[in-house]
Amino acid sequence: MELKVKTDIQSLKKEGIPIVIVGAVQESEAVANACKEIGIKVSAVCDSEPRNTEDTLRGLEIIHSPTLPKKFPKARFIIGCQHVQDVVEQLTGYGYDEFYSPLGLIENYDISKFEHSVSNSYMEKRLAVCKKTHRAYFNEEKTYMRSIDVMVTTKCSLKCNNCSNLMQYYTNPEHTDHKKILDALKIIDENVDEISEFRLIGGEPLMNKGWADIVNGISKKHPDGQIFIYTNGTIAPKEEQIKSFNSNNVNFIITDYGKLSRNVDKMTDLLIKYNISYDRSPAEDWVDCSTITHHKRSVKDNEEVFKQCCVKYVYTLLEGRLYRCPFIANAANLNAIPDNPANYVDLFSGKDNVKQQIKRLVKVAKFFPGCDFCLGRPYDPTSNLGYDGKGMIPAGQQVSKPIPYKMYK
Ligand code: SF4
Ligand code: SF4
Repeated sequence: MELKVKTDIQSLKKEGIPIVIVGAVQESEAVANACKEIGIKVSAVCDSEPRNTEDTLRGLEIIHSPTLPKKFPKARFIIGCQHVQDVVEQLTGYGYDEFYSPLGLIENYDISKFEHSVSNSYMEKRLAVCKKTHRAYFNEEKTYMRSIDVMVTTKCSLKCNNCSNLMQYYTNPEHTDHKKILDALKIIDENVDEISEFRLIGGEPLMNKGWADIVNGISKKHPDGQIFIYTNGTIAPKEEQIKSFNSNNVNFIITDYGKLSRNVDKMTDLLIKYNISYDRSPAEDWVDCSTITHHKRSVKDNEEVFKQCCVKYVYTLLEGRLYRCPFIANAANLNAIPDNPANYVDLFSGKDNVKQQIKRLVKVAKFFPGCDFCLGRPYDPTSNLGYDGKGMIPAGQQVSKPIPYKMYK
């Protein structure tokens, strides 16, 4: 792979072609602050998701990426977000060719000197992962996963019609035993050089009685990694569970479904009491991406769907198999797509080439067989490019019974 991202950030002090920070993400606030401090003049921020362009970031206008060429026919980009390879591919498609890593700006960034939209401790964690991701981009020898979704259950206390993890299709949802999960993670650990983030996910992870043991098992093995628990706020955790966590690396991401999230206040009270960081956000509109259909697309069209996909590096562990995205993980688990080993790595196969198989999974650059059953999940949901869904849809609408689908055996 040809590395197109430069590291000599100091060269950006020279006036010339406009400078744009990529990604309206929290890490970009630090990048913008550091640029200002050392005299790099930034013109704007860009982001592929139109909803992220309604605000400003550290006083900078946020431009929807597809409209960039109109405003800036030429630009130099500092990649603030963590999807380095995706950003390069997307912006190259718009005709740009000058990209910079923010490492020189954030390596020694003094968080305490600046204002941010999140707490200093949360920003520290975001920047730690961002640094690892950018360093990994320059080290092709290593097998690196920015994050892994650890699916601890397919049971959910809600049944959202358009759940992107496909919970609405399960007729017999199940928990995965916490020992099996920790064993699978051990195999992944032995065969991957680094993982920065572990995301406990479901369904509703707190429904699995072993969820806190999984958190503590990961935390013990990866004291430098960050653990994010994705919850819908329906179940109050036990005080002894929260008390048992390491507040340095355990975080909660709470989606607030209003009245449905009946225990969200109890949960946040406990998290505050034990100094566990959390983010509580309302369930906003979602991207339509949960219909399972065999599209029978051409190779070229599937390549485009994969190229535009924003979750193609969301590694997902489910029932002892490692996948590259939650759609294929759950569609395969439901037998809603034909079984094809090209879609996953079976961690308990007993074969001695797990390392090579994981490397193969990580390096897939065109598409997976399972992508032909997916609507796509584009960075820009307002575009039809590589996407067969309806765009934005209301979040959190409930179904009364599982949705039927075609099963493959
Ligand atoms: S709360 Fe809704 S979106 Fe979240 S996992 Fe459950 S069914 Fe899916
Ligand atoms: S199936 Fe393919 S296109 Fe769909 S979410 Fe997964 S990687 Fe993306």
